[in-house]
Amino acid sequence: MSINIKSPEVEIRESRLGSSNGFVGTAKELCDKSRKNRFCERKRSFSQCLECSSSRALSMLVMIQDAAVINHAPLGCSADFAEFNFTNRAEQIRRKIPVKNVNLLSTNLQEKDMVYGGGAKLESTIRDAYVRFSPKAIFVTASCASGIIGDDVSGITDALEEELGIPVVYVSCEGFKSKIWATGFDSAFHAIVRKIVKPPIKKKKDLINVINFWGSDIFTDLFGKIGLRPNYIVPFSKIEQLKKISEAAATVQVCSTLGTYLAAALEQEYGVPEVKSPPPYGLKGTDEFLRELGRLTGKESRVEIVIKQERERIAEELQELREELRGKKVYVSAGAAHGHSLLALLRDLEMEVAGAGIFHHDPCFDNGDERSDALKHVVDNYGDVRSFSVCNKQVFELVNVLSRLRPDLLVVRHGGLAAWGVNLGIPTLLVGDEQFGIGYQGILNYGNKIIDVLETKEFVENIAAHSELPYTSWWMEQGPYAFLGREQVE
Ligand code: SF4
Repeated sequence: MSINIKSPEVEIRESRLGSSNGFVGTAKELCDKSRKNRFCERKRSFSQCLECSSSRALSMLVMIQDAAVINHAPLGCSADFAEFNFTNRAEQIRRKIPVKNVNLLSTNLQEKDMVYGGGAKLESTIRDAYVRFSPKAIFVTASCASGIIGDDVSGITDALEEELGIPVVYVSCEGFKSKIWATGFDSAFHAIVRKIVKPPIKKKKDLINVINFWGSDIFTDLFGKIGLRPNYIVPFSKIEQLKKISEAAATVQVCSTLGTYLAAALEQEYGVPEVKSPPPYGLKGTDEFLRELGRLTGKESRVEIVIKQERERIAEELQELREELRGKKVYVSAGAAHGHSLLALLRDLEMEVAGAGIFHHDPCFDNGDERSDALKHVVDNYGDVRSFSVCNKQVFELVNVLSRLRPDLLVVRHGGLAAWGVNLGIPTLLVGDEQFGIGYQGILNYGNKIIDVLETKEFVENIAAHSELPYTSWWMEQGPYAFLGREQVE
């Protein structure tokens, strides 16, 4: 267990969890190797693109409504700023809260700063953010550049915290430190637990922390049925709210890849129990999730009633969807635990999972509890997935795999991937809202959406007929994993 909130640095996923991003085989094979602690990474000799930890840390912090964030980096690391602002404003409209821009600055490190250091620039940017935004806290995200030149970001933020009288927090998310971009989530949460969260004053028996991205509100209704209420964190929360997350009765997460660190840290530091179950996708996953939540909050009997009622409510429509979707081949390209959850959901619709390319793999989570292992849940309850790879959005692999498997449907989680399915004439479903598939209703949501998407077949085939892939026959005629090296047992 490597959660040490006294250290300003977060331990990266590779060393903390044994995470990796190169594997090809079957889902069961990966599960078995993970259980036996056999690190099974295959390193790529060629890589097209990646996200980075810094970007993921920013994605969690910039939408805290009354904080400011400073990216201590060259301007090139700010490519996501416009997207963050768009998401922030769009979600503010949806949530009916005042619409404003993100409080986000870059120190714009330049060549001279690389030689003489960027400390003075960071200090003046922190003071600038304090005056311009009157924030309740300031987060400073590090970058490759600030890490390489050795700026003492932690020392500077500590000094400015004393001067300004608000938390000024170093976020250790230098991009080069980890190949697993989800480490950036851990960096952001480490900063929050280390400097923002306070010990509980009064425990709230009905309040459940929900670690999520910025999806739709489905938990108010779902938890309401069992007398509980959600406390959505971290995007769209406020600093005062984050200070008190130690007072919740339990913590759940929509995706263990996202929330593993924060949920475990809250349990370790403040005794807030984490719901240790697969995420609530698909029939069995949702049953297990609700039962564990019920056990931790003393609502077992109420949960059983809700499970029975909800299963009965969706039974007829689910049957109709299964009749229509049974045996249709689907390929999934998504982040780790969320991608695994989608496999369960699609199997509940009786679709045939032709394969999956999952962005990275965590052999375990910070709680060390197998019940949270969404992939094991899929393999144990729905069987193996034969064409299973761990692929950090390497489009050249995806296009090659899809052209061989020719699924009826491609399901992707990240926008940039959707175009490739369409270019190949494969109806493609992009679901940005991870809450769309949660719970019993989520299965119906997906089923109905998939039926709509399958209707686009002729349309996407038309697009494919007029599209030219950038890959030559040299690449398309060889195996998709030609650049994946041999397995590295470490
Ligand atoms: S922090 Fe590093 S990896 Fe991330 S965008 Fe900047 S230079 Fe690239």
